[in-house]
Amino acid sequence: MGGVTPPDPQPVTARGVPPPVAYLDHAATSPLRPEVAEAVAPFAAGRFGNASGSHRVARDARRALEEAREEVAERLGCGPSEVVFTSGGTESDNLAVQGVLWAATDGGPVPPSVVCSAVEHAAVLEPCRAVARAAGRHGGPPITLREAPVGHDGAIDVERLEGMLDAGVVLVSVMLANNEVGTVQPVDEVAEAVRRRAPAAAVHTDAVQAAAWLDVGRDAGSADLVSVSAHKLGGPKGSGALVVRAGTPLNPLLYGGGQEQERRSGTHDVGAAVGLAVALRLAAAERETEGARVRALRDRLADGLLAAVGDTVESAPRDRVLPGHCHVRFGKVDQEELLVLLDEQGVCASAAAACASGAVEPSHVLRAMGVPDAEARGGVRFSLGWSTSEDDVARALTVVPEAVSRLRG
Ligand code: PLP
Repeated sequence: MGGVTPPDPQPVTARGVPPPVAYLDHAATSPLRPEVAEAVAPFAAGRFGNASGSHRVARDARRALEEAREEVAERLGCGPSEVVFTSGGTESDNLAVQGVLWAATDGGPVPPSVVCSAVEHAAVLEPCRAVARAAGRHGGPPITLREAPVGHDGAIDVERLEGMLDAGVVLVSVMLANNEVGTVQPVDEVAEAVRRRAPAAAVHTDAVQAAAWLDVGRDAGSADLVSVSAHKLGGPKGSGALVVRAGTPLNPLLYGGGQEQERRSGTHDVGAAVGLAVALRLAAAERETEGARVRALRDRLADGLLAAVGDTVESAPRDRVLPGHCHVRFGKVDQEELLVLLDEQGVCASAAAACASGAVEPSHVLRAMGVPDAEARGGVRFSLGWSTSEDDVARALTVVPEAVSRLRG
């Protein structure tokens, strides 16, 4: 990690004994980076001002907020006035989807429609469905939701998506990278297709998983709306942003004091904004070195699992996925049972589609990729990130094959 190696939260002991926990669930959340913790600490105590006020304490908070906004804008490739601070990825996605759809239903008699990839996060799919239901209930123009298919690699077929577009489409949402299998989508090609076939439509991309690894300003530069979340890259939970390019019609979700240029009311959490800015800055500074380091660890993990555990497949080709993602399917294994055994042995992974209750639901992503449900039940996501060490991978390579053979035995 170049010259800025952060302290390992579970350091190897002096005798080289492996740490008790191998945390391989960065796609769910990453541990807070020490540099971020240090930067946000003053806002939990002394620097408590309300950034909307006018006296010196408030001005101090506003200065920190606006500096954070400039940094976030630079990292995401937009202007500072195009950054809307939110409470995280879910709110950013909801603001993008609901904001555009409500603005469109206000706007006229043409029934609007929205096109999403079939593998979007629930934070995109559910608001689409909710707005469609609500518009119908209130006698507004019906909203149609169409899901664009993906191939076996999880990547969207841009031609087929283009075939779904017409002048009635007001929103197209395609994530920059998928949270379950990690597949990176050609968002710029999607945006070009949208400009050709549905020029009035806004293009939204959920870059929540991608922001830790990709240059979002470059890879999603043509999207009108871009969602990010701080805790996926070592920032604080409850902090995110939505890029809203100038001229994109958007109704707010939260009305009140008119903060964020009327797009998101509510007293600012300045520390959260600062935390997001620092996390994005660190990710950008270390993108190449960390990307290469983590990719090598991921490759070692994936190769090791494929070699040690028979009847195992990777869910998506490695050259199409984020560096930290390793999604594999173990034949004749139930993912819930496997995850329990792994947890007992100190390996934290996930089945990627765990809901709030912790239960694992059938993955709509694997279904969309054409994986039969019976096979999807053996799917496990190992996701690596800034704190992942060689020992974590070594531990997983010891524990996982043993656990699988116990279950198969
Ligand atoms: N979008 C994607 C692709 C995600 O992976 C997640 C979190 O898992 C979210 C949105 C929601 O983000 P947050 O946890 O910040 O609400």
